[in-house]
Amino acid sequence: MNSDTCATWAGAKPGSVDQWAYDVVVVGGGVAGMTVALSLDSKLKIALIVKNNGTQSSTYKAQGGIAAAVGPDDNPSLHLADTLRVGQGLCRPEAVEVLTQEGPAAIEFLQSHGTEFNSLESGLDLTREAGHSRNRVVHYYDYSGRQVSETLARLLPERTNIDKIDDCFLVDILISNGECYGCVFLHAGKPVMVRAKAVVLATGGYAGLFARSSNSSTTVGDGIAAAYRAGAVIADMEFVQFHPTTFTTLAGEVFLLTEALRGEGAFLLNSAGERFMTGYHPDGELAPRDEVSRAIIQEMKSGNGTVYLDARHIGKESLSQRFRQVYAKLAEDNYYLERDLIPVAPAAHYSIGGILTDIWGKTTVPYLYACGESAATGVHGANRLASNSLLEGVVFGRRVAKVINDDFPARGDCLELPAAICSKGNSSKGIAIFGEILDDFAGAIRNGEEISWLLYYMKQAPLAGEINNDKVQECQAYNIAQMTELILEAALARNESRGTHFRIDFPEKNDADFKKHTIQQKGKKVSLR
Ligand SMILES: Cc1cc2nc3c(=O)[nH]c(=O)nc-3n(C[C@H](O)[C@H](O)[C@H](O)COP(=O)(O)OP(=O)(O)OC[C@H]3O[C@@H](n4cnc5c(N)ncnc54)[C@H](O)[C@@H]3O)c2cc1C
Repeated sequence: MNSDTCATWAGAKPGSVDQWAYDVVVVGGGVAGMTVALSLDSKLKIALIVKNNGTQSSTYKAQGGIAAAVGPDDNPSLHLADTLRVGQGLCRPEAVEVLTQEGPAAIEFLQSHGTEFNSLESGLDLTREAGHSRNRVVHYYDYSGRQVSETLARLLPERTNIDKIDDCFLVDILISNGECYGCVFLHAGKPVMVRAKAVVLATGGYAGLFARSSNSSTTVGDGIAAAYRAGAVIADMEFVQFHPTTFTTLAGEVFLLTEALRGEGAFLLNSAGERFMTGYHPDGELAPRDEVSRAIIQEMKSGNGTVYLDARHIGKESLSQRFRQVYAKLAEDNYYLERDLIPVAPAAHYSIGGILTDIWGKTTVPYLYACGESAATGVHGANRLASNSLLEGVVFGRRVAKVINDDFPARGDCLELPAAICSKGNSSKGIAIFGEILDDFAGAIRNGEEISWLLYYMKQAPLAGEINNDKVQECQAYNIAQMTELILEAALARNESRGTHFRIDFPEKNDADFKKHTIQQKGKKVSLR
């Protein structure tokens, strides 16, 4: 085992650590991870590992639906054109081609595994979201993600080749001679080394790092941090999409009000009661999310700090039927969509950056794969077209499974344990601070001078504490600090504004210098290529 092994757990000696062996380890129980596990050959012995329970995944929280060209007036080329346009010059066209061409088959895959979607007599009931030129969002009321998540999860116990292991935290990837041989987890508080011939990271994104986020606070990019430590190339970390319309409950939870509400005709009003979006963008309320988010921030600054969603004209019946989850959640706080203006504000929602992969989910580390929100396939470019991400999880999850099924690695086991390395990390006390830092310095509006100052300060005075390797929280804190730094470094490197990334000191797009991807790799300076 060479010295680039990236274990952050200390004191473990060969023999003192539990060891498991599988053919394939899939980390993550969201749409991407479950799609991979269910699509792998039933002859393979698979561990599907999840750090908490299924309800904390972004998949479970997804409301609006899944975009795919399945309507009679639609086709994959139109879906491709919309995705490329919203991605603002940074999509990888070959990845978007795969996403959109394989979209209809992905919907069939979900249906054939028991997922139900709303339908009309004429076929699937398709709705429209921002940036789409057609109605193409397949949905199940406003809890499409829960429907997908629960349906796929129900199938797992039937597959005797899949061991689903909950409450198991990925710490690091095992690397020997530059290749992946498994991973290290914390299970029931103890380190476990899992050997495998292929490891799939489907650990989700990192928008939960931000203090104001629609994601669970556990969605912090653990898999991306581990892949980075293992030497994998990370790309486009500065691109974080902010969802314009989130509502803060009385209990302090940031709850998403799906874009489909605006798709069905809800307006945005400023504190003077005026519609303002048409003054910012010809598509009004259905402009790309970054534009709507920045317009809301602008209106909040120039008004009394509040912007509202107005769905009163849509009528109670449609609202309470179509938007069951949102309706019920708002009612808990005595807000009724047909009666009240709902105060909304942007929140970090979707992370575009992640582990660089090709169109088969292969990372730059042999036998390490990634898919779903943890991967940077290049399908979203500088901005994600709404409802393309559940689709990405299914399309690329199936591809990863296919490539592993086809070329199941014929190689020997790696028998050595990694040398025990104790990394310095950040104490769990620091976690909340990083969320505030990201909101303030890497939010919807950024300033290079401030980011530069902050990075300097973070390097001078790290919030240091020893990692205690028995504690998930402390490993998590280490990841949070590492991810914060990666985001800030990428945001500082992109001296322009494009898609979700807006720099007040460089407010224009600069194709000549920045129509490139941001690349980060351990031990190397951030670069653009
Ligand atoms: C509120 C909300 C609404 C959304 N609505 C939509 C929508 O309508 N349409 C759409 O296309 N997209 C939507 N999205 C985005 C979409 O839900 C996600 O991009 C997608 O579900 C990501 O799937 P995934 O499988 O990659 O990750 P996730 O679903 O987030 O799953 C990640 C899994 O990895 C596990 N994990 C993470 N770290 C570790 C670790 N260290 N060890 C072990 N396990 C780990 C987690 O426990 C989890 O099981 C929404 C997101 C949110 C938050």
